[in-house]
Amino acid sequence: MQPGWEAVIGLEVHVQLRTRTKLFCGCRNAYGAPPNSLTCPVCLGLPGALPVLNGEAVRQALAFGLAVGAEIQPVSTFYRKQYVYPDLPKGYQITQGPVAVVHGGALDLPGDAAVRGATGIFRAHLERAHLEEDAGKSLQGEGERWVDLNRAGVPLLEIVGAPDLRSPQEASDYLKVLHRLVVFLGICDGNLEEGSFRCDANVSVRPAGSAGFGTRVEVKNLNSFRFVKQALAFEIGRQSTLLDRGERVSQETRGWDAATGTTRSQRTKEAAMDYRFFPEPDLPPLRVDPAEVAAVQAGLPELPEARIHRFQEAHGLTEDEALTLMQSPSFADFFEALVQASGQARASANWMLGEVSRVLNERGLAITQLGVAPEALAGLIRLVDQGRLPLGAAREVVFPALLAGEGPAEAIVAQRGLEQVSDAAAIAPLVRQVLAAHPDVVAQIRAGRERLRGFLVGQVLKAGGGRLDPKGVNEALDRILPEFLAKS
Ligand code: ADP
Ligand code: MG
Ligand code: ZN
Repeated sequence: MQPGWEAVIGLEVHVQLRTRTKLFCGCRNAYGAPPNSLTCPVCLGLPGALPVLNGEAVRQALAFGLAVGAEIQPVSTFYRKQYVYPDLPKGYQITQGPVAVVHGGALDLPGDAAVRGATGIFRAHLERAHLEEDAGKSLQGEGERWVDLNRAGVPLLEIVGAPDLRSPQEASDYLKVLHRLVVFLGICDGNLEEGSFRCDANVSVRPAGSAGFGTRVEVKNLNSFRFVKQALAFEIGRQSTLLDRGERVSQETRGWDAATGTTRSQRTKEAAMDYRFFPEPDLPPLRVDPAEVAAVQAGLPELPEARIHRFQEAHGLTEDEALTLMQSPSFADFFEALVQASGQARASANWMLGEVSRVLNERGLAITQLGVAPEALAGLIRLVDQGRLPLGAAREVVFPALLAGEGPAEAIVAQRGLEQVSDAAAIAPLVRQVLAAHPDVVAQIRAGRERLRGFLVGQVLKAGGGRLDPKGVNEALDRILPEFLAKS
């Protein structure tokens, strides 16, 4: 950005809801089925077919509204938004009218110190979140165009953010927090590649410190958090350069081109569509029963930001560790079950972020496909904690054997003779042997080079073939080393 300017950003996010069926008909809401196999007269827009609102979609919208502290409107309405496009069979989209079911609300985000000066949490407000139906997909081929209407009528929650964001970094933080929220609420699968979470970014530039708003540009086609950041940075640069030259920013819709890293004009304000909005005559207003709101509220899970905080406080994790453990609800749940079963938070986090993640990445699996239950892994963690199994053997031998289904950790250790030696009577002779073999090192320690003690521990562990308990070795060395130091 050119100096002296400030960016103003507001995001519109389309979240595909995780309902069993579509918004106004009984067709399955699923991705990847054979083209046009999930359709019926309602979502094909055949004459005379009537829409019926999906109650589950409403409950998911309520869950979102309650989670962001929004006002739930007791009565909201549906409208027809008319435009002509091959993937829109009815010739209009049913969307919410001037009153949306979710009004207001906010997300708390870390501010971008680079633009705000001050650090700390700030509140990014939401304007509204409304229910609407998705359009189908049109696919362009060579001289051909195909239309797949499986997506037509899939429920969307459009979440409209206030223009409260001030940098690409804040926009990206907003999206991450919002994404985590809808995924942990269980109302969206969060799959960006499949289009379950899509973002349009509105951005304008104004003189730094001023209160008014500049002319905004809407950037479409942003299907990754990285693209949002890049597109916004490009737009902010383009707009502030124009303004510096005394030129004006025109209000328009621009498309992001990932190949060139630029945005390109798609539609100017003059060519803006007239959607001829009018109330949907085939749907009554949506009336929300307070008892239903209370039931949804009672069923809300612990919210992800609170859970991240709890992971840090209760388990002594860093923020990065907590965020990584919160990569998906099932990963976070596995971690919690592991802590519960093992009683070891630190070790559980280490296993999840270390070996477990490594194996999942290598094999391209989700945690639900690991094939080892948290209780089984906890058995392994307990053996290590009790000093009965060296950590190296736990990682290299027992964990792979658990994955291969060779039974409980305890049995694997017994079968393979991996039991760690922590018996002082077995360790002491090895310590004496190592001390006797390294009189030079003993002499240097006597001369004050305390750090060489670590070398001796390593030698003893090695002499024990990796099966000695390091704690036991340290204790034995504490007892025996003074004898050797006194000898000279
Ligand atoms: P529309 O329906 O045309 O998209 P809205 O008034 O609903 O218009 O605004 C859409 C989005 O644009 C909101 O996310 C809002 O925060 C954002 N927005 C509005 N004005 C500005 C502005 N001057 N600069 C940046 N974003 C803006
Ligand atoms: Mg818009
Ligand atoms: Zn249908």
